[in-house]
Amino acid sequence: MLIGVPKEIKTHEYRVGLTPTSVREATAHGHGVIVETHAGEGIGASDEDYRAAGAEIVGSADDVFARAEMVVKVKEPQAVERKKLKDGQILFTYLHLAPDPDQTHDLVESGAVCIAYETVTGPYGGLPLLAPMSQVAGRMSVQAGAHCLEKEQGGLGLLLGGVPGVPPARVVIVGGGVVGQHAAVIATGMCAEVTILEKNDHTMQMLDARFGPRVKTVFSTRTSVEEEIGQADLVIGAVLIPGAAAPKLVSREMVAGMKQGSVIVDVAIDQGGCAETSHATTHADPTYIVDGVVHYCVANMPGAVARTSAIALNNVTLPYVLKLADKGYKQALAEDPHLLAGLNVYRGRITYKAVAEGLGYDF
Ligand code: NAD
Repeated sequence: MLIGVPKEIKTHEYRVGLTPTSVREATAHGHGVIVETHAGEGIGASDEDYRAAGAEIVGSADDVFARAEMVVKVKEPQAVERKKLKDGQILFTYLHLAPDPDQTHDLVESGAVCIAYETVTGPYGGLPLLAPMSQVAGRMSVQAGAHCLEKEQGGLGLLLGGVPGVPPARVVIVGGGVVGQHAAVIATGMCAEVTILEKNDHTMQMLDARFGPRVKTVFSTRTSVEEEIGQADLVIGAVLIPGAAAPKLVSREMVAGMKQGSVIVDVAIDQGGCAETSHATTHADPTYIVDGVVHYCVANMPGAVARTSAIALNNVTLPYVLKLADKGYKQALAEDPHLLAGLNVYRGRITYKAVAEGLGYDF
């Protein structure tokens, strides 16, 4: 199969659909790969790196879309890219169609076979092609929070891990899922005092088994959230209610009651955020201050570490890229119900129930 990798064109998107390492695997499987020139620039991969991995470099996205049987990307296709899609062409990327009627319309019109990373399911549950970005954001949240605690950023002037004779900072993580656990890995690694508020009993048992005495788990109620937030130096917002806006667990009053110079990193901002005072920010201007509390609310945190993020994404997408290329989409989808769960648009029809129902299409 001929696989195509265009350069991402969404603003501030530096990742790339296939890394040179993945291209080498695909070519070793006997597939051709065409890559748009400079596609890997954002992760430090040159055209020469791609050529060495067996790819052919082409001059424009037009060349990629016109020739490739399968297009592998990161972000949802932008309007100009959607015009280039062809009937029967496979598109494998993040789509997030539910809130995007224009994109959905164009993908239906294109006749392409559109498989969304974010709805591919895993044999043990969860959404394995979404998880790496939560891992990245979780680990990064503590790094960002530690920076915000510095005086120059408006913070308390606190070193997360303290030093002998000076206590460490108190980190309160709201939500103990993928983001929360990866935040805890870094926060405990930096010797902070870490509490995770969670409401799922099974998850709390698992957190206890994983972190032992290095992390305190607390059942999440209005009272416990209020108590823990009131004592926190750094709050990490990591809750998720699948398919819904993030619950506003941290009220305006709780923020007003926090220490001057304390920090909220609201990772859940892509779902609206879990603090009433949160609004989305960008990497160019990531923080603002409300009632003396520094807020970091960047909606696409993994974009800042594009190289790590692209490699982590490729680690989970590559097996599916190879399966689709080796077997063709009909056999690959028929044989793998988890990959089939990723199929959102099939040659003019919406094939994902929530998207069809939400946007008024037949299912
Ligand atoms: P997850 O489903 O793995 O974890 C969410 C956890 O929140 C679950 O364990 C759930 O039990 C818990 N929870 C739900 N309601 C709660 C409550 N009232 N109190 C305490 N805990 C509660 O989700 P995740 O992958 O960790 O993602 C968390 C959030 O981070 C999502 O909104 C996700 O979209 C977002 N995210 C943001 C970025 C970014 O760049 N800003 C990147 C990746 C993920």
